Amino acid sequence: MSDVARLAGVKGADSPAPEAMLPVPGAPRESGQFGRLVRNPPRPVTLPANQPSQFYRGGTQIAALRGAPNETAGCGPEDWVASTTTRFGEPEIGLSLLPGGRTLRTAIEADPTGWLGQAHVERFGTSTALLVKLLDAGQRLPVHYHPSDGFARTHLHSPFGKTEAWIVVGTSEPDPTVYAGFRDGVSAQTADQWVSTQDSEAMLGALNPLSVTVGDTVVIPAGLPHAIGPGVFVVELQQPTDLSITMEWKEFLASPEDAHLGIGFATALQCLDRSPWSPERLRPLLRVTAGIDSPRVDLLGADATGFFRAERLSPRPTMTLDPGFSVLVVLAGNGSLRSAGDSELALHKGSTVVVPHCAGTTTLAGELTAIRARPPDAAVADPSLLGEVR
Ligand SMILES: [Zn+2]
Repeated sequence: MSDVARLAGVKGADSPAPEAMLPVPGAPRESGQFGRLVRNPPRPVTLPANQPSQFYRGGTQIAALRGAPNETAGCGPEDWVASTTTRFGEPEIGLSLLPGGRTLRTAIEADPTGWLGQAHVERFGTSTALLVKLLDAGQRLPVHYHPSDGFARTHLHSPFGKTEAWIVVGTSEPDPTVYAGFRDGVSAQTADQWVSTQDSEAMLGALNPLSVTVGDTVVIPAGLPHAIGPGVFVVELQQPTDLSITMEWKEFLASPEDAHLGIGFATALQCLDRSPWSPERLRPLLRVTAGIDSPRVDLLGADATGFFRAERLSPRPTMTLDPGFSVLVVLAGNGSLRSAGDSELALHKGSTVVVPHCAGTTTLAGELTAIRARPPDAAVADPSLLGEVR
């Protein structure tokens, strides 16, 4: 039964989800007069694949990472990990499910401080402020861009736009390439003409092509036009929306309405960054990390912490992780994640794990390499500095 359908049967807005009423072995008893049994506090949980359908091909590198059988290799180019975000316009598609069938979103709404921590909740409410994806482009993605927070608030009824970042974790085609930012400034008239005529060659040709290899990272501020070439497999961190404006829609989407989020290109193009991006200007957005031999590698840099944080972790043989909502993606090896009490979660290549804040200080152990993705630092005052249209 779907989460929404199950909850629809619960009377009273303040009633807990039905399964919260069930006796849970080992659960602490509530001190109320009825002695009701309540759910254990959240613990780190291994998440299964969650692959909402997409308009483009890909996904074999995701299946290989997860060790999925060959027959599931066609499950799609995106795996939304620890997602509380839905596909644009959809009420449920995209949400991650926890063991037992609740959505992560419902679980967080029932215990936001336990999952996210007090400081995060004070800043972002019950939103995780983060979406992590595994994205394996089996074909080149179209030239597109995403709205800023300010534009999303004004035109799309969303508190978040979509600044995103890519951590390249695999390549499967020769000359793996991504594309970001127009090399030369583009006039509003030219951008409008490209979209009207669907001039793919001109749009793609105007972007900076960037050769990438495993370990490279790219931050894509809202507004910046971009594309991902075939064979590039990334762990993507982004703000928790599905807001994309697809300039190059004709060979990819059914109609232009799907490309401009229903607001029309005349409005949608207002948040396109048409300014020139020289290699020097792009440089702060790019990092090369493959050669860094350290147990902890900051993958995205200080400027991104208003949007998201990511580290590559290689415990040798153990390391402690400070408390905080986080998502682990194990890229290689085997090990475990230990949290307070006797909780220990086995990890292996392809494991994806959501860790609640209340797990406290955890210990990562084993011969493994993992990415730890985290929401924005709640203390960063103005995250729009990087994300607003220039
Ligand atoms: Zn994008």
